[in-house]
Amino acid sequence: MRAAASIEEIVERGLCTGCGACASLLGGDALRMDMSPEGFMRPRGQRPLDKGEQQAVLEICAGRAQQGAAPAEAKPHRIFGAMLHLAKGHATDKEIRFRSATGGVLTALAVYLVESGEVDGVLQTGVASDNPLHNEPRFNTTREQIVASSGSRYGPSAPLRDIAALLDSGRRFAFVGKPCDVATLRNLALVDPRVDLQIPYMLAMVCGGNPSIAATYNIVRRFGEDHRDVDEFRYRGHGWPGPTYLHTRQGRAHSQSYDETWFSNLTYELMFRCKICADGTGEHADVVAGDCWVMEDGKPSHREAGDGWNMHMARTVRGRQLIEDALVAGYIHEEAFSVAELEAMHDDHGTKKRSVLWRLAGLALTGQPFPCYGGLRVVQAGLAASWRERWASFRGTLARSLKRRNRESPITSGTFVPDAKTS
Ligand SMILES: Cc1cc2nc3c(=O)[nH]c(=O)nc-3n(C[C@H](O)[C@H](O)[C@H](O)COP(=O)(O)OP(=O)(O)OC[C@H]3O[C@@H](n4cnc5c(N)ncnc54)[C@H](O)[C@@H]3O)c2cc1C
Ligand code: SF4
Ligand code: SF4
Repeated sequence: MRAAASIEEIVERGLCTGCGACASLLGGDALRMDMSPEGFMRPRGQRPLDKGEQQAVLEICAGRAQQGAAPAEAKPHRIFGAMLHLAKGHATDKEIRFRSATGGVLTALAVYLVESGEVDGVLQTGVASDNPLHNEPRFNTTREQIVASSGSRYGPSAPLRDIAALLDSGRRFAFVGKPCDVATLRNLALVDPRVDLQIPYMLAMVCGGNPSIAATYNIVRRFGEDHRDVDEFRYRGHGWPGPTYLHTRQGRAHSQSYDETWFSNLTYELMFRCKICADGTGEHADVVAGDCWVMEDGKPSHREAGDGWNMHMARTVRGRQLIEDALVAGYIHEEAFSVAELEAMHDDHGTKKRSVLWRLAGLALTGQPFPCYGGLRVVQAGLAASWRERWASFRGTLARSLKRRNRESPITSGTFVPDAKTS
């Protein structure tokens, strides 16, 4: 049982989340973020790193360890972690609710933080300015900018690519991103006191896994379009969950439902890191939000359901206060939502969390490194798995590891080539 010993090992053994913090801290002469041949955002080595630089990366990287969790101020649920507050809700602003991925709670909280003067801006993820199929980090200071960066981008992003410069700027800001991005920020807070002073709020979405950019190019191909012609692309939003939408420079438009996109034989790979992720529900965040799906026959349905509803939780006292303040100020609306409803609706995250211990066992047996998940109850959750679940998870990961299918290209390799990967 061991953690990765270098950035090369983190990337090549499939443990990198693509957050971008390492490249930001060490600078562009050492590492640059780019799309790997597999279609994931990864640090690309510009020169060999010295021992001190390697150590600096290992200290903060969520591919090596998730530590420095937000203080558990409530007894944690075995699967979903500490919940100081649990509710369902949505943004009160109609435009935010419509455009956002779900009910717009994350966007509404971000707008509230800026408009109340709590922060100078929000670091989040938006559409890349040079490619509507790619993503880039955005530092937004106005409602319009924050709303323009709403919605879920089911593709690679490097939200912490500019984190060092932002900390150096002295600005105070909120962060919105994936649970693993927040985990890296909490790691960074342990070695850089500016993080807690300058980033008072960390918000996350619930996350079941992030696909390779090849998935996005495959969606474009299935619409019968050339990726070079696309000038607008949305995965969801503009409804709930909202259609996958594509528009071309020539004026052609296509759309299809969430299920038509993700549950109709679309070929795509999730990051290997996502398959062994113990924190899909954002335990390091102050507030985390996911879908509050309509339930049909006891199961979540993804059919279009009009105005969106989030399920959201406060993980910290600060997060709970933020929700209370945003409610009083009229930015969000919420209603009761029980732990039993959460367990039924997001059982996919229960299944996944129970599997992690057994997947890590498969890696350990084959000498592979894996992240250290202190405080995320991996053993406790794993012991709640059935024998069938344990065996399937263990055997699947063992086989994957033996076939080297947890591996990714070296950090010195080239970049993703759309036509080669998607033809
Ligand atoms: C990869 C991925 C997997 C997900 N898996 C699940 C799941 O299993 N279950 C579930 O209930 N919900 C999942 N979601 C979350 C869901 O899609 C909504 O984001 C969530 O319900 C919050 O809704 P909202 O309306 O409040 O978000 P919005 O108000 O639309 O805000 C979304 C925020 O997320 C940021 N963001 C979008 N894409 C990325 C990205 N790739 N990296 C970093 N930041 C990003 C945006 O900048 C914005 O600030 C996933 C989202 C993503 C991106
Ligand atoms: S997880 Fe983040 S910090 Fe770690 S190697 Fe990947 S990009 Fe760098
Ligand atoms: S599943 Fe986990 S590792 Fe993968 S993108 Fe989501 S939070 Fe990050």
